Amino acid sequence: MNCDQMKEELLAMEAGQLDEDEAREAQIHLLNCSTCLEEQRIIKETWAVLSVLGPVPSSSDFRVRFWERASAPSLNIWRFGWQALAGFLGIWIAGVSIGFFLFWHSPYGRSALESKIQWHEARASSFLEDVYFRRDRRDRI
Ligand SMILES: [Zn+2]
Repeated sequence: MNCDQMKEELLAMEAGQLDEDEAREAQIHLLNCSTCLEEQRIIKETWAVLSVLGPVPSSSDFRVRFWERASAPSLNIWRFGWQALAGFLGIWIAGVSIGFFLFWHSPYGRSALESKIQWHEARASSFLEDVYFRRDRRDRI
């Protein structure tokens, strides 16, 4: 058992939910691992504090209000859905804008694009020269 698995088992262990084999394996790990032993100490302390506090009393109409809310038709979902969509789009547009701005002002942005444009311009103008002077492009090779 590794420490990640152990962290999952610790809560179950404190709640007495491990079977005999699992509990034995966990005990063996705790004997050899100070990190998990410390984790177990913290969990034990937390349980102790919680048991001192006792259950939190709920208001008398809690059940009624809970079921009212749980069974109420969820009319507001679309409103929040649109808000979420608008927020997402806003963030996306801002991100793309910032990304383009940073790219454009980076050494790769403008100069790379400009050199591409220059290359196409050179090709286009040599093609036009050939057409204008009726030169055959194959002669130039
Ligand atoms: Zn461990």
